[in-house]
Amino acid sequence: MSTSGARESAVRIGLVLPDVMGTYGDGGNALVLRQRLLMRNIPAEIVSITLGDGVPDSMDIYTLGGAEDYAQRLATRHLLEHPGMQRAAGRGAPVLAICAAIQVLGHWFLTGSGERVDGVGLLDLTTSPRPTRAIGELAGTPLVEGLTQPLTGFENHGGGSALGPDARPLSAVTRGVGNGAGDPVDGAVQGSVYGTYMHGPALARNPEFADHLLARAMGIDALEPLPIAEIDQLRRERLSA
Ligand code: GLN
Repeated sequence: MSTSGARESAVRIGLVLPDVMGTYGDGGNALVLRQRLLMRNIPAEIVSITLGDGVPDSMDIYTLGGAEDYAQRLATRHLLEHPGMQRAAGRGAPVLAICAAIQVLGHWFLTGSGERVDGVGLLDLTTSPRPTRAIGELAGTPLVEGLTQPLTGFENHGGGSALGPDARPLSAVTRGVGNGAGDPVDGAVQGSVYGTYMHGPALARNPEFADHLLARAMGIDALEPLPIAEIDQLRRERLSA
């Protein structure tokens, strides 16, 4: 099994539209990815891609955060006009989509006021308003190969996402709502695209998930372990909260 992080160029982490998508500190997911690489002496950089920029297809990994309905509409339009991330996903670059970003990457979503917005189409799902807003802790048992540890985060969303046959759920919900349409599952995985309703930031709470995404980004089987006692403590606290 390859665990070598040796590489000449920095791992490039695309932080996508932090000016419109990034509620609850979701931009921290990019910081976690970079920090976990730097602590292993692997060069890494965050490239912030805002509404004023095109979306490059050259990133090794992309992250998108949550947003309110109006902001996520702006983001959707921008991603459709500048399909660099979709090209990168097509060659296998991992994409992490949090909350509103799952909705944006689906086929379409209905906003809270009933407007239908066509999505980016990287995930086989559609989103409609739920009868009640889902707010609170969210935990799940991963359903994806390579993830073994319980996933933890918190959710705050009015939309519920129904998966089509090409998207698999990320986890089976053990606490909270998650996708909130159909089976009690959270998130979606399709090719190299991963979505979850978990804020936290999700990767600060779930280091195994962070390393899983990084290994895929680097084209290696796994990264060397990186024990951090404070994260173990945080996970114990949150999973028993
Ligand atoms: N606006 C979306 C909803 O309420 C997403 C919210 C979020 O990203 N926290 O469903």
